[in-house]
Amino acid sequence: MTGTKHSKYPPSSAFRWLNCPASVLLSPDDIEEDTTAAKEGTLAHKIAELKLTADFWNDNKEELEDCRSNPLYKPEMEKHTDNYLKYIDSNKSSTSKVFVETELDLSKYMPGLFGTCDCIIYDNVLNRLDIIDFKYGFGKVECKDNPQLMFYALGAIDFIKNKFPEINLEDVTITVGIYQPRIQNINSNFINYKDLKKWLKRIKPQIDKVLNQKIERNTGDWCKWCDRQIHCREYQHELMDCYVEDFFSLSDLEISLNLERLADIEKLLKKLKAYAVKQIKAGHKFPGYKLHEVNKKSWKNEEAVNEIATENGLMIIPSPNQALKKLGKKKFDELLGDQVTTTPGTPQLKKER
Ligand code: SF4
Repeated sequence: MTGTKHSKYPPSSAFRWLNCPASVLLSPDDIEEDTTAAKEGTLAHKIAELKLTADFWNDNKEELEDCRSNPLYKPEMEKHTDNYLKYIDSNKSSTSKVFVETELDLSKYMPGLFGTCDCIIYDNVLNRLDIIDFKYGFGKVECKDNPQLMFYALGAIDFIKNKFPEINLEDVTITVGIYQPRIQNINSNFINYKDLKKWLKRIKPQIDKVLNQKIERNTGDWCKWCDRQIHCREYQHELMDCYVEDFFSLSDLEISLNLERLADIEKLLKKLKAYAVKQIKAGHKFPGYKLHEVNKKSWKNEEAVNEIATENGLMIIPSPNQALKKLGKKKFDELLGDQVTTTPGTPQLKKER
């Protein structure tokens, strides 16, 4: 998960690209940058990895300190990663071997496919294989029929077979699991090698579409994880298609569904605005829109302002804008005009008149 190599077809988004090949086949220019949440997730994974790989010879102290000085670090990451370690411990036996951040070659299932599995536990005495994926986000992830975990299970089987050539794959008990501490979501599912092969056969036509560069956009649940929403006509069309054309009044259920959809529209709007601001700053034009900077006014010296207020029988004035409103421009300039300092505000998107 924290590996630096990026797969063209990341297993972590396989649910999306298997359903919508366009989401990995279109121009990379359409891809949105990693969000703060994604960067936080990467940092939490790194902390978990360093804690898991610390041993008698190397406690990874310096690297952990580097993580702790990252601006995205939050103390709660300690609790969540410590609990993840405990969860891994609870899945181990005295004969287990634990493999952390293992790069899995999945190219035999799909050329160009590889991924890094957070944790593989294999017990060659019990012939038990556990694949655990650490998720740091808030969106609940299920492990049943989860393509990322299915691919990881296939890769983990090959990885283990390489290390223990004597094992009979048909006999391995495989468990795939999600550990998602921030929403207390821990779920796991048993599968066997036969199920994995059946699943692979079932998704083969979808893999072929991606490999044959069939640019097909299909909207669905997976769109909420897509980093191309800003440019996706189909997604935006689908999203805006609220239940408003019904002849009869909306039912409670339809209102609930609209509320859910409106929350997604709000998220999209926020992304579109941030994108437009960034692009306009870089010299692009969006007809009818411009950037507007509202300068921020504050007091140069609050103590001096309070003194002036007391001398003139005024109440304490918290901000220049409030003072201006209260005193009017003439009196404000006269009493407090030279106490104001101006700093540039964050540029906002504004409609041109
Ligand atoms: S937003 Fe949905 S439909 Fe559009 S490219 Fe992404 S996954 Fe496909």
